Amino acid sequence: MVHSLYSNKDIFLRELISNASDALDKLKLEAYRNKDLDADTTDLHIRLEADQEARTLTVRDNGIGMSRDEVIELIGTIAKSGTAELLRKLKEAKDSTASAELIGQFGVGFYSSFMVADKVTLVTRRAGESQGTRWESTGEGTYTIDEVEDAPAGTAVTLHLKPEDADDHLYDYTADWKLKEIVQRYSDFITWPVRLGKDGTEAINSMKALWARSKDEATEQEYHEFYKHISHDWTDPLETIQLRAEGTFEYQALLFIPSRAPLDLYLRERKRGVQLYVKRVFIMDDCEALMPEYLRFVKGVVDAQDLSLNVSREILQQDRQIQLMRRRLVKKVLSTVKAMQSTEPEKYATFWKEFGPAVKEGLVNDTDNRETLLEIASFDSTHDAEKPTTLREYVERMKDGQEHIYYLTGASRALIEHSPHMEAFQAKGYEVLVLTDAVDEMWVESVPEFDGKKFQSIAKGQVDLDSDEEKKDNDEQRQEFAGLLSWLGETLSEQVKEVRLSSRLTTSPACIVGDANDISPTLEKMYRAMGQ
Ligand code: ADP
Ligand code: MG
Repeated sequence: MVHSLYSNKDIFLRELISNASDALDKLKLEAYRNKDLDADTTDLHIRLEADQEARTLTVRDNGIGMSRDEVIELIGTIAKSGTAELLRKLKEAKDSTASAELIGQFGVGFYSSFMVADKVTLVTRRAGESQGTRWESTGEGTYTIDEVEDAPAGTAVTLHLKPEDADDHLYDYTADWKLKEIVQRYSDFITWPVRLGKDGTEAINSMKALWARSKDEATEQEYHEFYKHISHDWTDPLETIQLRAEGTFEYQALLFIPSRAPLDLYLRERKRGVQLYVKRVFIMDDCEALMPEYLRFVKGVVDAQDLSLNVSREILQQDRQIQLMRRRLVKKVLSTVKAMQSTEPEKYATFWKEFGPAVKEGLVNDTDNRETLLEIASFDSTHDAEKPTTLREYVERMKDGQEHIYYLTGASRALIEHSPHMEAFQAKGYEVLVLTDAVDEMWVESVPEFDGKKFQSIAKGQVDLDSDEEKKDNDEQRQEFAGLLSWLGETLSEQVKEVRLSSRLTTSPACIVGDANDISPTLEKMYRAMGQ
């Protein structure tokens, strides 16, 4: 009974172990690359030391450690900036769910310690340096920092636990069973041994790299915890993707599609989320050679057996095997989305809402997968304001004799719907795609067709919606209005190329259309903004 009760606060330990694990990864790699580094890497591990009398819990690692400057930059400054606000809110938060949400929102793993501690002491020494540093804070937005002489290499984070609650035995973070339970629940896959007590030699985690197991050897919960460890996200992923290749170039991949787009998805500096391992050794974060730009939201791990540990980003970019691997990973991600589209439409809708604009960048750049991308894309349309349509569905609804897929680009749905260009199409019942993302301007220029149907902007050139009979009427009207048209043409000769009688309009008296070869007004604005 007791053992099935979990608290949201427990995740502070996941965060500290995750940091310790990263620190061990970094040391291992640095020691491999720099043979002169004065560091002992023979027994890399994480240790949890509890003191029931003093009510402290220490999470210790013999990893890379931090210099004094790094402590100030990585741990210290968060205490000054946004975190002061976070900590104030944390104190006010009524329950641990609220505080876990707050922590996740602010994305500061280390500071989750203050959910359970009223004082945190961090002692660290960077590999290769002799001077150690002690940082201490009560989580009120300030901290103290001192030099220490005899700090062991690595980092020790000591939590001075808050006074016990009434139901304390459940949340006693000094109890061995409790620590074991949390580690097994949240950190079992950590590839470094997590040991218990000052002298414990046995690992309490299984240490099995999750990506090396087959799908039935791991639970969904384990995949989700692993995702949180590598992505620093606090929400479960939308989809887990597993892939392995055997033979001459062997690798295993465990990829995730998050359930929410990060805030920096459209900023140029944001990072890409696939980590590269070589034979279980962490090599780099954000390996851009493994995922194209337009799938930058995909997170995960790729472990390759046949690469050198010395491999660099430059080498990876040129490696043929890596290019093949990337091609396969991309196909797998896209086919997963395609499957999701047909079997789990709601999940797919979430995916498209969060990542659609990024994926559409692929329509411009990834010509190899263009067909698949066109299949998995959806677009707002005049058919149903509530539900985006796929191109396949659009084509199925096309009217007899309709040859083109009609679209209009613009800044918002409202602007597009009220555009005079829309009138004739609405009146005659033609469906028009409503394209409001900036990237839409780009791909419509570079994608020629879908399923043999060309894309046609309803704002460009002569769009012929009329029957033969209507055309005859138009001819008569044209003669009737010839005088007006030529007068308008002369009067407006500075502003427009030509004045035509139009069958596009039903209620508006006039509208401006682009030439068939002109760039669209929005694109024109974009180019002008870029100074071209
Ligand atoms: P994140 O892990 O998402 O970067 P954290 O708040 O958990 O955010 O940690 C902030 C930074 O502090 C880490 O990125 C790392 O550089 C540093 N750090 C934290 N714990 C350790 C540790 N045990 N050893 C070395 N560096 C650490
Ligand atoms: Mg962290």
